[in-house]
Amino acid sequence: MTEVLSVSAVQMMVNGEWIDAGDGATMDVINPFDGSIVAAVPKGSRSDAKTAIGAAENALPAWADTSPDERAALLFAGIEKVREHQKELAKTLSMEQGKPVFEAMGEIHHFLHGMTFYAGLASKIRGAQVPLPPDMGKHSYGLVLKRPVGVCGAIVPWNFPITLMGTKIGPALIAGNTVVVKPASTTPLTTLRIIGLFNEAGLPAGVLNCITGPGREVGEELLQNPVVRRIAFTGESGTGRRVMEIAGPQFKRITLELGGSDPMIVMPDADLKKAISGAMIGRFWNCGQACLAVKRLYLHEDIHDEFLAGLLKKVGTYEVGDPSTRPEKPMLRMGPLHTADQRAEIEEQLADAVNRGAEVLIGGKRPDKPELAKGHFFEPAVVTGVPHDAKLVQDEVFGPVLPVFKIKDLDEGIALANDNQYGLGSSIWTQNLTWSNQAIREIQAGVTWVNQIHYGYDELPFGGVKASGVGHEHGPEAVDYYLEKKGAVIGGLA
Ligand code: NAD
Repeated sequence: MTEVLSVSAVQMMVNGEWIDAGDGATMDVINPFDGSIVAAVPKGSRSDAKTAIGAAENALPAWADTSPDERAALLFAGIEKVREHQKELAKTLSMEQGKPVFEAMGEIHHFLHGMTFYAGLASKIRGAQVPLPPDMGKHSYGLVLKRPVGVCGAIVPWNFPITLMGTKIGPALIAGNTVVVKPASTTPLTTLRIIGLFNEAGLPAGVLNCITGPGREVGEELLQNPVVRRIAFTGESGTGRRVMEIAGPQFKRITLELGGSDPMIVMPDADLKKAISGAMIGRFWNCGQACLAVKRLYLHEDIHDEFLAGLLKKVGTYEVGDPSTRPEKPMLRMGPLHTADQRAEIEEQLADAVNRGAEVLIGGKRPDKPELAKGHFFEPAVVTGVPHDAKLVQDEVFGPVLPVFKIKDLDEGIALANDNQYGLGSSIWTQNLTWSNQAIREIQAGVTWVNQIHYGYDELPFGGVKASGVGHEHGPEAVDYYLEKKGAVIGGLA
């Protein structure tokens, strides 16, 4: 076990206590940088998941009855504890996920911002008083009451394990629900540590639990167990389908935040410097492993060559390497892909495009540095001439490869943007209000950013259309998914 983890939890948190898997099974967490074992965590089973669900069920009545101010105070206390430990947490996250430490620090900050946003909302949840027609009784009125849904399952992927946990536990807890978190098997460590800190900060036992183990076991118990009334899932669209199959027939409240293939359209009047920087961060942050990454770039023919030249220059400043270090300026660090499978998939998608006539303008191969041979490194690539029906365009490309297309006008850009099964994010870069309005109206996506990098703001609802999902996270709107609305009528007062 490494130094950073010497004080960390490597057990599961259930009912306020650290526990092992019932059968003692463990699974290793591997560092994507060098293949070393970072730590081992319990390989939980269905029976362990049942124990956690039971703990959340027992804790529910008291938590639902806790005043909103008190809930908020406990969350703020947890937030402060996480803040105190943020450096250690960022290092752990980098080691288990592979992202550079400064990106991991950004993720912890995003989590803290989101949790603070929700803790502040705890006392602002309100129902309604509704005047009713007098036919059934004069002076009658209706009430809309909001009550917690119950035990919630939060199923989280590996690419942003901490922010995506926050988008679930923040709204769930302030609304008076109890939660069982299931992190991805490859990124449980920072999650366990953070959940431990919230429990240490005073959350009552059983309010916030964490179970580690395979999706097919632990995840599916959350989907199947009738005590769990709400499933918040982030992950691949294929897994989302399975979530629907199992949890849907039980009428659970389900939100699915799934894959994406965000288009970015650059018009001739755009601020090219800003747009190039937007494409860089959009495509290559987190080694391209982001749901809302810029996965297709559409450049107007008037600025195509200038933009591409500027972009290639910038992409050339990436230096793949040890995520715990930073290269000398102006070079930028890119860590490894998360797993060997992840890299193999990218290589396959790129090879398919090349076989169909695409040209790789930069990168697109494993680095030939022997010291990086044990990591899943891949040099960031920019590609042109990709047929629009190629996998590199139509499937989700979850790594640092960017296909670029020339468009003659916005109509063509929007038509190509919409020629995809996904509809998560999208952006247009222009000073022209008519063009930006057209893009906002016509691009089939959950979000359109105008002259802005693709980013999930805590303040604004975020969710996909088409194969990108169902429902929203973020914003005050997300809290509604964790509340039952009950109507009541007060009559007979006349
Ligand atoms: P994944 O679907 O493989 O796994 C996500 C989570 O589901 C993990 O915790 C996994 O253990 C669990 N799981 C797997 N099988 C399960 C099952 N049968 N029942 C219940 N749970 C199960 O996804 P991933 O590879 O971890 O994450 C990457 C994907 O997530 C990408 O497609 C990405 O676009 C998507 N994503 C979407 C958003 C968004 O907000 N739309 C955000 C981040 C990532």
